Amino acid sequence: MPFAQVALPIPIRQTFLYRVPDALADRVRPGVPVQVPFRGRPRRGIVVELAATAARDDTQPLGAVLGTALFDEHLLALTRWMADYYLAPWGEVLAAALPGGAEGLARSRARRAAVEDPVMAMPLARPLTLTPEQRGAARAIEQAVRSHAFAPILLQGVTGSGKTEVYLRAAAAARDAGGQTLVLVPEVALGSQVVREFTRRFGNRVGLLHSYLGTGERRRNWELARRGALDVVVGARSAVFAPLPALRLIVVDEEHEPAYKQSEQLRYHGRDTAVRRAQMLAIPIVLGSATPSLESLANAARRKYARLTLPRRVDGRQLPVVRVVDLRREAAGALLSRPLRAALADRLARGEQAVLFLNRRGHSHHVQCRECGHVPSCPHCEIALTLHVSPRSFLCHYCGHTEPAGGECPKCHGALLRLSGAGTQRVERELAALLPKARVLRLDADATRERGAAAGVITAFARGGADILLGTQMVAKGLDFPRVTLVGVLDADVALHLPDFRAAERTFQLVTQVAGRAGRGDRPGEVMVQTASPDHLAIIAATAHDLTGFARTELLERREAGYPPFTRLATLLLTGADADQVEGAATALADAVREAAERASVEVLGPAPQPLAKLRGRWRWHLLLKGTTAARVHEVAQAALAWAATKERPSAVQMQVDVDPTEVL
Ligand code: ADP
Ligand code: ZN
Repeated sequence: MPFAQVALPIPIRQTFLYRVPDALADRVRPGVPVQVPFRGRPRRGIVVELAATAARDDTQPLGAVLGTALFDEHLLALTRWMADYYLAPWGEVLAAALPGGAEGLARSRARRAAVEDPVMAMPLARPLTLTPEQRGAARAIEQAVRSHAFAPILLQGVTGSGKTEVYLRAAAAARDAGGQTLVLVPEVALGSQVVREFTRRFGNRVGLLHSYLGTGERRRNWELARRGALDVVVGARSAVFAPLPALRLIVVDEEHEPAYKQSEQLRYHGRDTAVRRAQMLAIPIVLGSATPSLESLANAARRKYARLTLPRRVDGRQLPVVRVVDLRREAAGALLSRPLRAALADRLARGEQAVLFLNRRGHSHHVQCRECGHVPSCPHCEIALTLHVSPRSFLCHYCGHTEPAGGECPKCHGALLRLSGAGTQRVERELAALLPKARVLRLDADATRERGAAAGVITAFARGGADILLGTQMVAKGLDFPRVTLVGVLDADVALHLPDFRAAERTFQLVTQVAGRAGRGDRPGEVMVQTASPDHLAIIAATAHDLTGFARTELLERREAGYPPFTRLATLLLTGADADQVEGAATALADAVREAAERASVEVLGPAPQPLAKLRGRWRWHLLLKGTTAARVHEVAQAALAWAATKERPSAVQMQVDVDPTEVL
């Protein structure tokens, strides 16, 4: 055909038609990278479709064909779906789907995978004898692999129940049937059991697609996968694009992890895209977690997903005993309570290890009453209010509701406690003062800026090179340290009162996951959870290992308040250097989408400033769209995009759409 539709990696949501010169006709096929003239200069793009005719007769000729097809029909369809669903330019999705990105091939950061090389060189490990529960789960998945049908499966297994071994068996079954397996892990899980075991079990038939690999290595694995020379690809969320011509099974480990959502540039959810990919290919997908997302739990409850459970730890090991330490009874500002200090000293004396967890990533000040524990929250949104300093007020970051803030609790007139501040570094200093003999390793973003540093810390701790591993959420994820008998959650409330409807869910997941690091060896584990909200559902449920109870109550609340999984959301984010201009644009945008919102019965919350009101010199305002179906929310988001394409949007203000946002801050 004489014409080709080309997708370009530019922020314009359309493809462009070019004439195919006769000399290139043989090589121009869907999926092929090409060079085309665009606004007077050459650009690289991907041919997505051939066309017989052109509406205009001044169609420009395509410049050059840059290689053979990079995308097969299936990956073109998948990226097309993503472009439609996430309201992104197809060309940008295609660019993101390449190892290092299409034009992104140029902005690759060369990095070596030094940490993983020794693992690669390890001898192949033999499978373990499965427990009866593991066997049941593995059989069910193996059967699904053989059945050639879309089969989403939630593998709900407590921490230490041996989910990895089930994935390994399922992947082996897929391989034996001549198929490939894609295993997705959260970005943070680079030192995890899953990555290590797949590497040990599948040797040179497994390839990693992780951002910590150099581009050269990533491209090599990508090529191997494409040629069918790999049985398994393990990678972070962007590995969902891996070219796997014989894909028969997808595994998403720790499916609840927020890290699967990319919230910059191309905003997409790796897990949800994986589910879509499995559906398009009619293959099974296993979503594994000890603390599944409420979305997946709801899908299992509605029988959209099959549910497999591993209710016990392997080898008769017990789940750790979890104790709550009420921070309101400790000295103000105490990071390490008396019981936790005693427990740490005790572990040191016995030569056992401890993990301390402090997730300090909140950027806004929220408050809580020291006396009654009351957390001021929005009457419209049931979300914690954020304390602003000038003017001093409480503000709801969902709807903009504001109320005056004094120094005392609006309920009991007690003194208000500002919850902010102390991070892992301060804990490190406090540990040095309290337990000078303890060898402490820190695992957080600051301590692990260097590539491979995180894996280095994890390896050192696993080898017994320290008594205490202190860190942020990086210590909560998939790590398996048999000698750890104590886990301390220093402040379970960090995430609890964030102005986000998922605050309780995140807290439950984090506390449960980090608690799950204790007692994985022969000796039983103990967990201490420091909190000023010991009566909060998330804390009580995590303490009791009660996922079912937590999910039941939380789902009821979500239904009442109209949040996912009972509704769909999208945020419209406006940013710009001039505060007034951004605010004005936000108001104009709200007006512009009102009609579409009424037609689609979509609720528009806001406009409101983001808690991070200014980021990198740009002011941020947002609107939250809430509707009963994705299609309805899309309709309003489309109206917003249409508005953004007009002159009504000041050119200095940018708009971004986030479909299914994971953080509604
Ligand atoms: P999960 O991911 O469910 O938290 P893992 O897959 O990390 O659990 O397994 C926890 C530990 O149990 C690991 O050390 C693993 O090697 C071990 N394990 C798993 N299955 C078995 C089994 N069938 N027999 C003995 N040990 C097992
Ligand atoms: Zn509100």
